[in-house]
Amino acid sequence: MEIVDLSRELFHRTATHPAHPPVIMTVWNDHSEKKVAGDTVFSSKAMSIAFSDHAGTHVDAPIHFDPRPDALTIDQVPLENFITEAFCVDLRDTPLGHAVTVEELKAAVEATGETIKPRDTVLILLGTNEKLLGKPAYQHDFAGLSIEAIHWLADQGIGMFGVEAVSPSPEGELNFKAHMACAERGITHMECLANLEAVAGRGRFRFIGLPLKLRGGTASPIRAVALFE
Ligand SMILES: [Zn+2]
Repeated sequence: MEIVDLSRELFHRTATHPAHPPVIMTVWNDHSEKKVAGDTVFSSKAMSIAFSDHAGTHVDAPIHFDPRPDALTIDQVPLENFITEAFCVDLRDTPLGHAVTVEELKAAVEATGETIKPRDTVLILLGTNEKLLGKPAYQHDFAGLSIEAIHWLADQGIGMFGVEAVSPSPEGELNFKAHMACAERGITHMECLANLEAVAGRGRFRFIGLPLKLRGGTASPIRAVALFE
């Protein structure tokens, strides 16, 4: 079995969406602190971490974008939603800031030789990390899906889709509408995925991206992986 890691590293001041608080990681204690019990001298190292529930590679819970009181929090979403079949479409030549149309997305799906099955996860390689990661523009200039393309994915019966950028659609109104479309259609999405180049064009795989059990969480960091068996 081959495991491909699709997650971004989390570290002090990880690039995040500008609307969310930063990741803060500090050393809580380290091996310079000795604890003595009887004849035994012990030392340990641990970190203290504060982060947004939208930090790093993460999945949005319905309550993030759905104002209805019964919208699910991340700890309420069934775990089987995060262990699915998946494939990755290659749209890395999409220009920055562009909203991928239904026609462009359909063509990218056809190019994989796959057809979308109910509950599939569809990963969208837009080359965002390659073009923007590490630059201030990473938070603003990314391409994404058009609202019609999100509805088309929902029409095919997907459970979720995932992108490399901090948002599923280009910044501003489109991004708001993209989240509202997910609420309307009962699907969700992952943001800040990494390494999609390693799975694009390789057909189907098993996707696993389990969230933390955050009580009332509106999202959660995930360790997203592709399994080829
Ligand atoms: Zn989102």
